[in-house]
Amino acid sequence: AEEARAFAAANPASRARALAAASVMPGGNTRTVLHYTPFPLAFAKGVGATLTDLDGHVYRDYLGEYSAGLYGHSPGPILAAAKAAIEDGIALGGPNMYEARLAAAIAERFPSVERIRFTNSGTEANLMALVTARAATGRQKILAFAGGYHGGVLVFKPGVVTNVPFDVTLARYNDIASVEAALAPDPTAFAAVIVEPVMGAAGSLPADPEFIRFLREITARWGIVFILDEVMTSRLGPSGMQGRLGVRPDLTTFGKYLGGGFSFGAFGGAEHLMGRYDPYRPDALAHAGTFNNNVTSMAAGLAGLTQLFTPEAAERLTARGEALKARVNAAAEAEGAPLRMTGFGSMLGLHPTDSPITRPEDVPEAQSARALIHLALIARGIYIARRGYVSLSLPQDEADDAAFADAVADVIAQHGR
Ligand code: PLP
Repeated sequence: AEEARAFAAANPASRARALAAASVMPGGNTRTVLHYTPFPLAFAKGVGATLTDLDGHVYRDYLGEYSAGLYGHSPGPILAAAKAAIEDGIALGGPNMYEARLAAAIAERFPSVERIRFTNSGTEANLMALVTARAATGRQKILAFAGGYHGGVLVFKPGVVTNVPFDVTLARYNDIASVEAALAPDPTAFAAVIVEPVMGAAGSLPADPEFIRFLREITARWGIVFILDEVMTSRLGPSGMQGRLGVRPDLTTFGKYLGGGFSFGAFGGAEHLMGRYDPYRPDALAHAGTFNNNVTSMAAGLAGLTQLFTPEAAERLTARGEALKARVNAAAEAEGAPLRMTGFGSMLGLHPTDSPITRPEDVPEAQSARALIHLALIARGIYIARRGYVSLSLPQDEADDAAFADAVADVIAQHGR
């Protein structure tokens, strides 16, 4: 409560904005994940890896727009590419010169992607991947994982009533036996298995490599389409997590930073599945979307992937994240503090517990502890998500990570256990 009072007193402009917005938007909000108590900071500006809020405070941005902000807020080559593209016309109503080049750049990095199509969000990409699997197999059922998040209308948590009504069966993450049990009654009823190789919204929880390899095998055995949701994880290696794990999914979904920071999603994979969208075919499936090939996302995404997020940059970023996680965990352990970082590489989670976390059910709700950590970090100039989600961006350096680790150590020192 003390931290919340101090936060409110320090942020009158954000508070006024929240109140004004609430008269036209429910709770002043249009993205549920950006809400927190007592009210969210609103931002006026972002430069590099920093954010400035309406009251003029400057933060090191460790939310990184839930991973879409890989390039930070002012990447020169991306801004130049986006400007050049829109100066030639904003929306042209026909194929443009950027889309196939971005498609080729992604296919080169992700060998499982033989053909790809673009959408406007990761949510749409997953909807399309599931639709593709159902059309290809003629089956209806989808196997997903409790705690999984595949978009605003594909949230696999108890009590969620806003999901698109697919026929979903849930198994437990990192639990091979639960998958066997879920499929056992009739594996040939399943069109798809969809999984995040590192769960994001559930708390940045990496899959066991054997678990993902098992999913690859059992889906191949029963003719089930294996969909790897790499919307967040494609940044975790030169070829995403599929490259690290050595698995080749049938379909992969993408999003976030691959549009250079602009709206983006994509689904792609095996030619025999994606080929159904070939409009020259008599049995072609339709997939439209006014902004699917918008020049801004296409040009910006291409510049980012080819000029900034090279395979070497992907490896460096992953190493930075692993070092930051190790540093924070070592400090928390040394102090005996109930605080741990989960995740892999540049996709991390900060949790108020010292118990091992390997599955969503291990992640403590602990709302007041999370609020305290979140507001205490904000007071120290570090911006992360209330749920503890952390993602790194390319413009940050060792000094930023040291500042992050020092801030966490300071919160531990002040608030202790
Ligand atoms: N899939 C995963 C794993 C995600 O983390 C997200 C977004 O956080 C999505 C899908 C949805 O992407 P979008 O927010 O672009 O619709």
